[in-house]
Order: sequence, then C-alpha cells, then structure tokens
Amino acid sequence: MNTNETKTFDVLVVGGGIAGLQSALDLGDQGYKVAVVEKDATIGGKMIRLSKVFPTLDCASCITTPKMAAAAHHENITLFTYCDLKSLDRAPTGITASVTQRPRYVDAKKCIGCRQCEYNCPVLVTDDDQGGYAARKAIYIPFSTAIPQLAILDTENCMLCGKCEKVCPTGAVDYFQEPEDFTIEAKTAILSTGFQLSPLETKQQYGQGKIPNVITALQMERLLAPNGPYNRVLRPSDGMEPDSIAFIQCAGSRDKSMGVPYCSRVCCMYAIKQAMLLSGALPLADIIIYYMDIRAFGKGYEQFFQNAQAMGIQFVKAKVATMNPGENGSVTVRYEAQDGEGSVTADHDLVVLSLGMLPDWNPVQQCPVSIGEDGFIDQVKPKVAPTLTDMEGVFVAGVAAGPKDIVDTIAVAGAAAMEASKYMAALEQGRKAA
Ligand SMILES: Cc1cc2nc3c(=O)[nH]c(=O)nc-3n(C[C@H](O)[C@H](O)[C@H](O)COP(=O)(O)OP(=O)(O)OC[C@H]3O[C@@H](n4cnc5c(N)ncnc54)[C@H](O)[C@@H]3O)c2cc1C
Repeated sequence: MNTNETKTFDVLVVGGGIAGLQSALDLGDQGYKVAVVEKDATIGGKMIRLSKVFPTLDCASCITTPKMAAAAHHENITLFTYCDLKSLDRAPTGITASVTQRPRYVDAKKCIGCRQCEYNCPVLVTDDDQGGYAARKAIYIPFSTAIPQLAILDTENCMLCGKCEKVCPTGAVDYFQEPEDFTIEAKTAILSTGFQLSPLETKQQYGQGKIPNVITALQMERLLAPNGPYNRVLRPSDGMEPDSIAFIQCAGSRDKSMGVPYCSRVCCMYAIKQAMLLSGALPLADIIIYYMDIRAFGKGYEQFFQNAQAMGIQFVKAKVATMNPGENGSVTVRYEAQDGEGSVTADHDLVVLSLGMLPDWNPVQQCPVSIGEDGFIDQVKPKVAPTLTDMEGVFVAGVAAGPKDIVDTIAVAGAAAMEASKYMAALEQGRKAA
C-alpha cells in the first residue's frame, strides 16, 4: 500500500557522493536531523569506485568507506537509497520533496546482507560497477563495501526461478514489492548530485564507443583498483597485458562538438595518476599522454606532474584527430603533433579517453533552481558564497555546481553545511523574534 507518508527533517541532502556525505556529517555533528536521498543502491558516489586518488595516491575506498559508515551509523542521519527525487520545491514551511522508493524486491527490514540469494542465483549479468568487465548476479549487493548492505533484484534479468526466495534465511525476497512514494519536509536542502561522464558514443572520430580497446577513464579506475575485475591490468578485448597504453586528454571537454566547451579540471591529474599506477603495474609498458595543455592547478599537483615525467611517462603535445581499429586488437591513433612533426599515426594496445564531466542533475522535472549555460547548478555568488543558489534555503555542493577534484568538493561541501546551518539559525531567530 502506498501511504505517501511525510517525513520531517532539518536538512535534505540530495546525492550521497563524497560531497553529500561530507555535508550530512557536518550537519549531523551539529545536531541537525539530516535526510540523504541517493538514487543509486549505495552511497559513495564516484569516489568509492576510484582506485587511488591524486596527488597522495591514497586508496580511494580507504577514505570513502569510513565516511560512508559514519553517515550510515550517525544518529542524526537517515539514508534513503535507491530513491528517485520527483520534485523539490519551496512551501511556506520550508522545502518539500517528493521521493519514490524504487522496489528492491527485497524487504529492507528483513535483509541481513548474507548474500545467500546472490550465491545461489544462476543468472550472470554484466556488472557496470566493474566497468562492464565482470559479471554479477540478477540478485546482488553492488559491491562488498556498499552501504546499505541490502540485496536488489534486477527484474530485467531475473528468470523467476525462485532459488533466491528459497535460500533466503529471513524470507526477505518479495517479488511483489511496489514503488513507494513519500514526502520529505525540511528547513533547507543541499544539492550534491555530482556528475556523469560524457558518452563515448558522441564522438564519431573516436569510434563512438565501438572500438573494443578504447575505454573510459572510469573503466581504467576499475582495472587499476585492488578489488577490480581482473586483479591486474588486462586488455578487455582479449585479456592481453597491454605493452603500449595511450591517454587522450580533452576527449570530451573543451570540445563544442561534444557539447562540452569547458575544461573538466580533473582529467589531466587523473590521467597522470593512472599513468603512474600503470607504470607500477606494468613496468615494461610504454605509457603516453596526448595532451593540449597540462592543468596541474592544485597543491602538490605540479610536483606530481614532474614526478610522472621523471618516471618515464611520455607527454606528447598533440590533438588526436581520429582513432580506428588496428591489427590484433590495437588502436590506431592519428594526431596533429604540436612540435611541427605534422600528422602522425601511432598504434597502441589500449587507449583511455579523458571524457568530459557533465552534470547529473535533471532540473526540469525536479526543482526550479536555475542552472548555468554549462548545465551545472548556478552559483549566484560564485566568488564570495559559492554554495548559494537562486532558490532560498537551497545550497549546492561538490561537482553539482561544476567540475572539481575531491579536495575542493569536500571544502565546498563543508561550506554548504555551514550556510545551511546559518540559514536554520536565522530562521530560528526570526521565529523567536516574531
Ligand atoms: C576517472 C576519474 C578519476 C578521478 N580521480 C580523482 C582523484 O584521483 N582525485 C581527485 O581529487 N578527484 C578525482 N576525480 C574527481 C572526483 O571523482 C570528484 O571530485 C568527486 O567524485 C565529486 O563528488 P560529488 O559527491 O560531487 O559527485 P559524485 O561522486 O558524482 O556523487 C554524486 C551522487 O549523487 C547521486 N545523484 C545524482 N543525481 C541524483 C538525484 N537526482 N537524486 C538522488 N541522488 C542523485 C549520484 O548517484 C551520486 O551518488 C576523478 C574523476 C574521474 C571521472
């Protein structure tokens, strides 16, 4: 039965990536009741899917997992995962959000995360959380550190054999579960909906995603991750260890034909990071970064770039014009060299595209907050108060306002939490004065 219950909190945080988690933790620690609405089945955003992070090369999940666990166990934070935000609007009392809980076909109150359903499921499906390079079951927990540890049944691939239902020790599998609508009322909201990468299919000259060994940088993160699909770096098409790996910078940013005229800011640094990690994993491989400019803007980033050069990673200043399938699974890259060499062709075993960052916020149906020309949420005072939007009581954090690295994401998320807390204090003062 759909009751459309109303749940009341002080703050609504939309998006449970590192930005949303940081804002939620800061506000929860100040005693505010926080609801985090996340569309994915787990919190953690992109960061939990990264291998290591520049410029320190710390393990990404070693930093993200404690924050995820702290949010999950915080007495003032309630997580609503696998939920769609239908709308977010101002009401006389504050912010009202309509949310739909998508059915997991597993009762969240009964599931104990034992994975018996997953182990016994006979259906194998491509696992997008592993870049598409591994298989998962039709009933599954996204990954070992996912929060919450609740199974989801993927009805598109389930063959209704009933094995999961039979083996579940708590009777949690429920094939008849339905979506549930509910309303969240809060005094203020923080939008931290992050980004998506620009689709590989957009660029005809780069093979439109049809060349087997041309992969995205997020797929490379999975190949490099200690809990990745192969436990070592292998070429996806045939499992060969690549001897020559190329990174193509600005493959989806600073490119009007891709609809992304702006710089995505983090691609230079993550390509350098991945190249360094690859040279450790495959010491004999040739690693080349084709770049237009290197933007090493943060603290310690220039040194990081210099370290990569000292390690023997080659930097070729060039704009890659086309990519085509070569012999034996290789990729033929044609580029215009900026050193006067003209048009050059080179073959690589594996090519990684630094695609652009696009906003993951769908404003039209959801919320009247304004967006900028680049599609990211507009900051009305970008210099002096970068978390303010044009909607009263609604703040923005992380990449939802524009491309950022993790350092800046966390700093801005903290600032958004402070603005939200200041706003609530002013509301309280106004209430007392009235
Ligand atoms: C390949 C790659 C490597 C990188 N490596 C590094 C690195 O080494 N160091 C570094 O500093 N930075 C790195 N970055 C950048 C880093 O990933 C971002 O800075 C960080 O993830 C931003 O966090 P976020 O919370 O703003 O966004 P996200 O991580 O995108 O999280 C946003 C969350 O919001 C959810 N969401 C979106 N829309 C909705 C909605 N409507 N309702 C509910 N939930 C929603 C999403 O599901 C997601 O969980 C890298 C980026 C890429 C692409």
